[in-house]
Amino acid sequence: MTDPRPLHVLIAGGGLSGLAVAQGLVKNGHTVEVFERDRDLNRKQGYYLHMNAFGGEALRSVLSDDLFALYQATSRTTYGRQESIVLHDHFGELSSQPHLGPPNTGETPHTGVHRRTLRQILSARLGDALRAGAAVTGYSEDRDGVSVTLADGGTARGDVLVGADGIRSAVRAQRLPEVPIIATGVRGIGVYGRVPLTPELREIVPATLMDGVVIAVDRAGSRMLVGVFDPRQPVHEAAKAIAPDVTLDPVGPYLMVSCSVAPGTEVPPSAEWTGETPGMLRDSMRRAVAGWHPAAAEIVGRMELDSIFMIPFGFIVPAATWAPSRVTLVGDAAHAMLPTIGMGANLALRDAEHLVEQLTRAGRGESGLIAAIGAYEQDMRDVAYPFHAMTLDHDKNFGGGALARASDA
Ligand SMILES: Cc1cc2nc3c(=O)[nH]c(=O)nc-3n(C[C@H](O)[C@H](O)[C@H](O)COP(=O)(O)OP(=O)(O)OC[C@H]3O[C@@H](n4cnc5c(N)ncnc54)[C@H](O)[C@@H]3O)c2cc1C
Repeated sequence: MTDPRPLHVLIAGGGLSGLAVAQGLVKNGHTVEVFERDRDLNRKQGYYLHMNAFGGEALRSVLSDDLFALYQATSRTTYGRQESIVLHDHFGELSSQPHLGPPNTGETPHTGVHRRTLRQILSARLGDALRAGAAVTGYSEDRDGVSVTLADGGTARGDVLVGADGIRSAVRAQRLPEVPIIATGVRGIGVYGRVPLTPELREIVPATLMDGVVIAVDRAGSRMLVGVFDPRQPVHEAAKAIAPDVTLDPVGPYLMVSCSVAPGTEVPPSAEWTGETPGMLRDSMRRAVAGWHPAAAEIVGRMELDSIFMIPFGFIVPAATWAPSRVTLVGDAAHAMLPTIGMGANLALRDAEHLVEQLTRAGRGESGLIAAIGAYEQDMRDVAYPFHAMTLDHDKNFGGGALARASDA
């Protein structure tokens, strides 16, 4: 046991997991510095994030009460069904299975959020502790602490370094250099866009498509994924009412859509996109769903061109057990997985919650610092790695295997 004292924790990465660690540590009386590589914290990273009780309860733990209330108010209306659903191309149901994760039965069940809104809530009140445009390039560790080096030549020193810097983590590259990154795709999806959810569209879209994240598939293997963001309270009004010092960008209800392109269409790498590319891809998606339920072409045809972008998919092969030190990893840096079971962010937030708990125990003098980090890491491997394994067989594990059966038939 050691003398109680607040810790100073360095965090590489200001994504969901790094910010959640920062919020939780500050809430528990510690100090943090978050180094985020991007200068623009609003870089396009995706739209709708499916939440479950791993992520939601972690947010309850790390956020102040009002910021947690703001997360709940800005999350989508409660789903009718707590299930992952696969539809055929005329939107009849092929199969369903209960959502993965712990029971999600609270008064306000965790459903889904607009990613940027959640990131803005998680950034709230961190002030100068969150430094944008500050890429971490490496670190050195000694008996008394850890120092990081930044791309601009700056340095910082703290008790602990948390690598929350995503799939291509610079911290992991030094800590666990043997971990491979596998670039891949999930058949047919990877180009995302948004469709405003207007009253007219609500009339056209079948109810089965409106309830969470739904995948439809045809026998040729084309897929369409739809996630509906329809917040419990308008986002900016919720901020005004619940946490007036927090600025949230307004965002109206929308459908997040990802759809296969027609066979033969090449999706160019993002760096090679021209002004014509989004329109070309949208036309190709429309061709891919020609012959489906008429709502499919309506939805794709309404995708806003400036919302269309490509997300390169990938995962890491997670490391086997390692000896703990002052340098640890959370979220995608530790277990980046394919996004197809909607777990990555939820587990990243859960990591943050458990790391904060352990570091707080160490700060109180209830356990040694390295032992506390080791306890966090063991729990993280026990819980997150089995979900990572499930994502490797997406077609078998989404919606009870209907995807695999439909594509095989
Ligand atoms: C298309 C898609 C849909 C998804 N949908 C869901 C879903 O519905 N539900 C779900 O639970 N999960 C989902 N996920 C997974 C989820 O997005 C990730 O698991 C989650 O974002 C991981 O959070 P993170 O903070 O660990 O990493 P990230 O969100 O990747 O954040 C890492 C941060 O570190 C910064 N950074 C990188 N390198 C450095 C450096 N050297 N120095 C400083 N900063 C650095 C990056 O700029 C970034 O801000 C989805 C993923 C994708 C791709």
